[in-house]
This record gives sequence, structure tokens and C-alpha cells, in this order.
Amino acid sequence: MRYVSTRDNSKEYSFEDVFIKGLADDGGLYVPTSLKKFSTEELYEHKSLNYNDLSTEIINQFSSDFISKDDLSSLIKKSYSTFREKDVVKISNIGDLKLLELFHGPTLAFKDVAMQFIGNLYEYYLSKNDNKINVVVATSGDTGAAAIDAIKNKSNLNIFVLHPNNRISPVQRKLMTTVEDKNVFNIAIDGNFDDCQNIVKQMFSDLEFSKSINMSGVNSINWVRIIAQAVYYFYTYFKLNVDKTISFSVPTGNFGDVFAGYLAKQMGLPVDKLIVATNENDILHRAILNGDYVSKKVKETLSPSMDIQLASNFERLIYYVNSCNSEITSEIMKKIKQNEYQIDKSNLDIIQKDFVSESCDENETLEIIKENYEKNNIILDPHTAVGVGAAKKLDFNDCVVLSTAHPCKFPAATDNAINKHEELPKELQYIHGKKENFQLLENDTEAVKNFVKSKL
Ligand SMILES: *Cc1c(COP(=O)(O)O)cnc(C)c1O
Repeated sequence: MRYVSTRDNSKEYSFEDVFIKGLADDGGLYVPTSLKKFSTEELYEHKSLNYNDLSTEIINQFSSDFISKDDLSSLIKKSYSTFREKDVVKISNIGDLKLLELFHGPTLAFKDVAMQFIGNLYEYYLSKNDNKINVVVATSGDTGAAAIDAIKNKSNLNIFVLHPNNRISPVQRKLMTTVEDKNVFNIAIDGNFDDCQNIVKQMFSDLEFSKSINMSGVNSINWVRIIAQAVYYFYTYFKLNVDKTISFSVPTGNFGDVFAGYLAKQMGLPVDKLIVATNENDILHRAILNGDYVSKKVKETLSPSMDIQLASNFERLIYYVNSCNSEITSEIMKKIKQNEYQIDKSNLDIIQKDFVSESCDENETLEIIKENYEKNNIILDPHTAVGVGAAKKLDFNDCVVLSTAHPCKFPAATDNAINKHEELPKELQYIHGKKENFQLLENDTEAVKNFVKSKL
């Protein structure tokens, strides 16, 4: 399968480019030139596959020029052997809603599902290429831990993770900073998440620097993350064994996870609506409701992994609703950059065929946690609570809510709502007593570049 950039689709790229580079040189995101669309019969044939075999079938549609199906299959098995659930994900009930629990990986957030696979895919690539790669990534908490766990102790690979000093939860921090492997470097930036992200962007766009260290990225625009996430939408549909379309409510920040659901739908999965659930950083809700894609200042909320104003993956949706026209997409991206984009009526009509949206404020989020604890005896993490709240507000009473983090990762929110928090799973409790390692650096790109160079 070949790929193009959303901003210039005259040039084609390979899966290897898409995976290793993440972002096209023109600043656009990679998308495939065509998509496999499963017929009803073909879907039926996938129905009883276990999670690993289903992953192999779906991902192989995209990666067969890069890795053989057999190699892919063993790599997927290895990736998901680190999960606490045999089937990787688990479906549970809360009232009439279903919860798709995606947090049974090593760092307790859904990002492990894609990241464990990506770590092994790097290893596979490096086994065939005499190369050393330095992964640099900014995190608001969950991405960094998932990436570190996936990359630690892999040879010819280093990982540098920038987190905003004192602005992530202690559990999130300890999952990163207690890792002892020699190829893991944690950097606390004296600034906020946007500062961290800007530093990483500047490092990438300094081509002399980024090429000299073979810099690679694993943030949520990486196409490989999206395809690995599309798998659980298929899996859920087959497990629920219904013969009608189903809707999913997805707690959303960078529009990656919910875009994976859109991809599954484009590939023929009978999805009705995708609910874009946001916290008070509600740009995507305003956009989908009435076309208002103007970003405001980021607010810190109880669900920090969704405290995002510009959702990078939204560019892929813009490309698709404009019939894969990269010139129009480029024009729109310029308007977004100037913060003056309003989605026009014809595009909005297309978007609303697949998506609905809702936002939950802080009180509503706490209220949902409380209500579900009292009624269903379940502690929800604050991100999942936003997904549940959005489904309720929209009266989608039998949809599937993606549960994106283990509640023990965000004890402050649940303490606030119900005066209770969940403990870490036994296997992870050791992080509490362990020495933390990180370098505090000022909010300055040169300082980070110098630090990285000093470690190579
Ligand atoms: C990253 C994250 C999200 C948002 O996912 P996107 O793909 O950025 O939309 C939601 N919940 C949790 C717990 C996360 O870590």
C-alpha cells in the first residue's frame, strides 16, 4: 500500500517512511492512497478471531510491503503478551452502556495498545537496517509512559521524553521516571505541555539536527498508532455479536483514537455514530456542533490527557471530507494556523453523518464518577467519565464507551468525587518506593538539544 501527505498528494511514500518519519516534510499527515473495504461476508469471516489474529489481519492491510504476515503475527503476539488481560481489551457493562476497557497494558492507558506494537516494529526495522534511532516525544502524561515501556531495553534505540515539570500526576510521572534502562531519558521542562510540544516540533524542523541524530516520533499523528487502534473497534463489534450498527463514545484530545473508529467505519465496519467527547477544552465539540474551529487558551482539567486545543489528527478528517483534495486541505490548514477556520456547511453536513459531539465540564465529570460509583459500584477515571457523560447527555443509551485509563492513574479526581481511589495493580506498586530519575531543564529548545547530544 502506498501513502500520500494530506498537504500534497502528488508524491507517494512507503509504509517505512510513514512509520519512521511520522510527519511528512511538507507538514502534512500521511494517509493511504486507498482503503480496503470489507464486505459483509469478509467481516463475517473475521468474527471469531482472537485479538492477536484480528490485529494481524487488519494491520496487514496496511503494512504488507514492509513486513510479512507471519512476522507481523509473531510481533503482535509479543507486543500483547505484556497485557494483564489475555484478550488485550475487556468489555464490561455499566448500566445499559458498555465499557471497552483499553487500560490493561503495562502503563494503564489505552496508548499501550498501539505503543507496545510500535516498540517492536522499531526493533524489527532496526534488525534489517544498520541504524540507530532517537525517539523524542512530548507528553502530558500518558504517551510518555507508554512510549518508554515500549522502547526501554531495545537496542539501537534511545527515547527522550519531555514532560511539564509538576504538571502531571505523581503516578504518571513515576511510571516514567523509575525506569532504569540506559536508553531512557526523562526531561522535566519548566513550562506546560504546549511548551514541551513546541520544543519537540522545533527540534524536528531543525532538519540538520533531526537528521544528524536520526530523530523519530511516536506521537499520535503516527499512522501506525491509528491502525493499531482501529483493531479494537472491529474486535468489539464482533464480540458484541449484534446484527445492527453500533455507536462508540470516545474521550478525545488529539482526535487520534476517534479517528481510528472512523477508519474502521471506512473499512466497512457497521458503525453508526462516533461520539466525540471532550472536557472543557471543547474545540472539537464546537467544531462538530456548528463548525466553530477556533482555539481558545488551554484549561487544566481533571482529565489532563485531553487538555488540547488543536487536535492534530483532525487534519486527516478534513482531507477525507474534502474528497482527498490536498490543495483544499492545505488552504484550510493555513486558516487553522491563523486561528480563523470555520467549517463550511457542506463539509459540516458530511462530518455530521459520522460524528456527534458533547462536552462535559468539571462538575459534570465529578458527578458522573459519583453516580456510577453509587449506582454501579464502578470507579471511572476522569477521561472515561467524560465519555460516559457525553453518551448520557446525547441520549445514546446503549453505545460502547471507550475506557481510556485505569482509575488508579488519577487518584486526585476520584478522591474529589467519591473520597476514594483505586490502588495500582500489584505488579506496579513497586514504583512508589523507587528512586526517580529525570533532568530538569529550562523551557529552551537549545538546552534540550544539548542535553540530547550529550547523551549520544
Ligand atoms: C491520550 C488520551 C486520550 C485522548 O486520546 P486522543 O487519541 O488524543 O484523542 C483520552 N484519554 C486518555 C486517558 C489518554 O491518555
